[in-house]
Amino acid sequence: MGTLEIICGPMFSGKSEELIRRLQRTLYAKQNTIIFTPSIDTRCEENTITSHNGRNLKAVSIQNSSEMLKYIDKQTQVVGIDEVQFLGGDTVEIIMSIVNQGKRVICAGLDKNFKGEGFGVVPELLALADNVTKLSSICMVCGNEATYTQRLIDDKPASYNDPIILIGASDSYEPRCRKCYVIDKI
Ligand SMILES: [Zn+2]
Repeated sequence: MGTLEIICGPMFSGKSEELIRRLQRTLYAKQNTIIFTPSIDTRCEENTITSHNGRNLKAVSIQNSSEMLKYIDKQTQVVGIDEVQFLGGDTVEIIMSIVNQGKRVICAGLDKNFKGEGFGVVPELLALADNVTKLSSICMVCGNEATYTQRLIDDKPASYNDPIILIGASDSYEPRCRKCYVIDKI
């Protein structure tokens, strides 16, 4: 029987570390494991997933979800996907078809975007998952548990309608709690 596990939370909550930990165990157990990462994730070097603490695993870069099907066969037992929020289109259908082939699928990704709303396909995957691990980080302002990712543009909170890519401005992100998270909807 296949299963779907989701590891979610804000930035700097250790999602990739947790994904790597689970996948490393399957590799020790000599299970047939394959790991994917969307090629949009600029943090990863070619064909690896890297946690913030520097551990890494070999991964296959994909442009879209359907590419995964080319690499998965009868022998595949475990499928890991990092930064799943960057996969669009028919990702939910493709992931569920892999689960329904009897495979263990483990996805890690941001559950909320910088606007504080569900990120891409992640909310739907959370609904379909057998097991959800929601990680938190530490609020950079007050030290409470952080479940939001605050976007800062030139050190000021970003607005709801700010474009994703800003040329010439310094864009950064930090974990914050619900009280300290700031967004102005214009
Ligand atoms: Zn706070």
